[in-house]
Amino acid sequence: MHLARFKAEPAIFAAPGRVNLIGEHTDYAEGFVMPAAIDFATLAAISPRADGGIAIYSENFGDERFFQAAGLPTAAVGHWSDYPLGVLAILAGKGHKIPGFSLSLWGDVPLGSGLSSSAAVEVATALAVLSLIGVSYSGAILARICQRAENEFVGASSGIMDQFISANGAENHALLLDCRDLSYKLVPLPHDTALVIANTMVKHAVSGSEYTARRAEVEEACAAIAHHRPEVRFLRDATLDDLERWGGEMPPNALKRARHVITENQRTVAAADALLRCDLTETGRLMAAAHWSYSHDFEASCPEADAMVELAQDLPGLIGARLTGGGFGGCTINLVDRRNAPAFAERLAGRYEARVRIHPEIHICRASGGARRVELGALTGKS
Ligand code: ADP
Ligand code: MG
Repeated sequence: MHLARFKAEPAIFAAPGRVNLIGEHTDYAEGFVMPAAIDFATLAAISPRADGGIAIYSENFGDERFFQAAGLPTAAVGHWSDYPLGVLAILAGKGHKIPGFSLSLWGDVPLGSGLSSSAAVEVATALAVLSLIGVSYSGAILARICQRAENEFVGASSGIMDQFISANGAENHALLLDCRDLSYKLVPLPHDTALVIANTMVKHAVSGSEYTARRAEVEEACAAIAHHRPEVRFLRDATLDDLERWGGEMPPNALKRARHVITENQRTVAAADALLRCDLTETGRLMAAAHWSYSHDFEASCPEADAMVELAQDLPGLIGARLTGGGFGGCTINLVDRRNAPAFAERLAGRYEARVRIHPEIHICRASGGARRVELGALTGKS
């Protein structure tokens, strides 16, 4: 489609969406998360232009925008083009001269479903534009540029996880990321594991304000501990022992939120260890514990998500299930033996529909590689 529209042979880059296997609301406490890249991706096809113009086309929206490289917008306007323009703004801010180009975007990451189509667009765009200007950054720097685009230009407050896994994911692996220093370890998943992502199809309206409230409670708990142990700058540094000693000095809700974050950090590191040992029983136990901690202590689940997790428990092939993402709805992640995955998805959908009276969208994914250049031949029909 790029060739037909812009009459120029493009270079093509792909960046995947992601799902978080474990580690929720730990990122801003400088803790651990363990996402995997999935086999839904955004493609960015780019070709240079001699007229100093920048044309950006989204196949998903059937919409093309045109700008002058010399006069790019400096603020978001609430349009899909904010995401690629945000990347250009951050690159320009780092001193890169942005040349004229035509860019086509196409993606099969479901938009707005919590699988991070936004990070996929940013990372694919950044790779495409950087290749045009002949610059190559490490995955960590690429991720930081894209996170800044989302935070500073688009105006969405997200941690580094989405962009980091999109840039650095590896096939058949999850990635244990230390949000303190961005060091990471690739954690192999058994080859026959499917990532079954079950969308509850609900997003409770409270999610934005509740997210802010949870974050404030986490910080309140941290401050109460830091009063006695000043070296505790984030809950990453705190222990359950700290909570036992000083939990009485914080509001009861702050204590519960802190208990979730502290134990979730432990579970995330333990889940990586369990996967490295191929101990799938322990992996599943940790995912279940993570879900109920998220539901009871963090109070960020909802009846529909709890139902989706409960209804999966006795289905053949399940390794572990939990609510993934910011909470109050969205998707559950189910690690499932690949041979059982289609039947698992069908039965889970049937049970959920019977219980909740909503038909869920269920995606059977596999852990995939991170952002990369792709060859045209491999993509017939998509480019
Ligand atoms: P999520 O990242 O969970 O999918 P977001 O609301 O963060 O949800 O990001 C979705 C937005 O990203 C879309 O509304 C759109 O503005 C932008 N986006 C994602 N994919 C594309 C695409 N292929 N083309 C244009 N814009 C896209
Ligand atoms: Mg997003």
